[in-house]
Amino acid sequence: MEEIAEFLKTREKEGLMRTLKAVVPLGRGRIRFKEKEYIDFSSNDYLGLSRHPKLITAAKKAIDEFGTGAGASRLMSGGLELHQKLEQKISAFKNKEAALFFNSGYQANVGILGALCAKGDAVFVDRLAHASILDGIVLSGARFFRFQHNDCAHSESLLGKERANFKKAFIVTETVFSMDGDKAPLKDLVSLKEKYDCLMFVDEAHATGIFGKNGSGVSEEAGLTEKIDLIMGTFSKALGSFGAYLATSKEIKEYLVNTCRSFIYSTALAPAVVAANLASIDVIKSEPRPRIKLLEMAQYFRQALQARGITVKGESQIVPIVVGENSRAVKLAQGLFDKGYWVIPVRPPTVPEHEARLRFSLTVHHDKKILEALINELASLKV
Ligand code: PMP
Repeated sequence: MEEIAEFLKTREKEGLMRTLKAVVPLGRGRIRFKEKEYIDFSSNDYLGLSRHPKLITAAKKAIDEFGTGAGASRLMSGGLELHQKLEQKISAFKNKEAALFFNSGYQANVGILGALCAKGDAVFVDRLAHASILDGIVLSGARFFRFQHNDCAHSESLLGKERANFKKAFIVTETVFSMDGDKAPLKDLVSLKEKYDCLMFVDEAHATGIFGKNGSGVSEEAGLTEKIDLIMGTFSKALGSFGAYLATSKEIKEYLVNTCRSFIYSTALAPAVVAANLASIDVIKSEPRPRIKLLEMAQYFRQALQARGITVKGESQIVPIVVGENSRAVKLAQGLFDKGYWVIPVRPPTVPEHEARLRFSLTVHHDKKILEALINELASLKV
């Protein structure tokens, strides 16, 4: 217990303490905390679909028909027709042979990589890949090599040196990086995958519903869906709900159903969630305007910040401002908080040391007026 107390003391001293807050979501991109209203810049509900009438109606109908819980895991009696329908819809949406639905993005990454990679295999993974990806790789027992962020020359040098020493090899990346808001160089990574005989896994958590003509992600936008073996994404962000998917081959799906522990040993997601997910794909396909507008607004925000001499990163709806040290990020976030903006300072270990940042997650609720007022605040705080 002494170690725990010591750990907490150090966290506090270094400005790294994480604490839980209970907020009240008010809709339209606003939240209430301790009687005060804030404009929320930390939500991944990019398109506001968690309040979309079609998703809400579908979820309510599923509760009325099937109750609130699935009752068992998919391999027991918890596998509903709704789950199967959702998987058919995902595979059509992602243009892949098959799809498997998972209870969360975290469970998907840990389970898929944990099941497919093994001792004797190698994983070549972007240095900024999400914690759930790294946890899955570590769990698998495979050797892993982290290449510099979005650096294909570095990943090729690692592949050239190491690939021949292993049986299977995987190239793993996010397509839109959650903390940097930039996109992976998919075309070049696919060329490397082909040259070095690897399987490729991508995480489209922040791209699903936003990029591509049909809104299915960056793989679709880049025209590379067919060449990427494993495309994972979540329903928990732009799709406004919960759960995750893997779009892949029938064979890999079948293998995972038989081996993937996070899939096998967890109760299936509730019917209401699955029904909302089904509706979310329809909405994404039929309503492209909000995602186009969101990306235009992000572009406007980025350019306006740059015009004020503020350095920003990314090329998506995620707009990070790297401010350096943790204490500076915390102070700036507090300044914005006092003015009614809910912006979370992101610190190590989520991002590398000395790269603490303010991460602005733009949603359809942030119009030009809100963004202009925020830019003025940022300038007055001397970001
Ligand atoms: N992958 C990435 C890139 C993410 O950002 C996240 C969520 N922060 C996840 C996976 C996990 O998804 P979920 O929240 O659905 O567990």
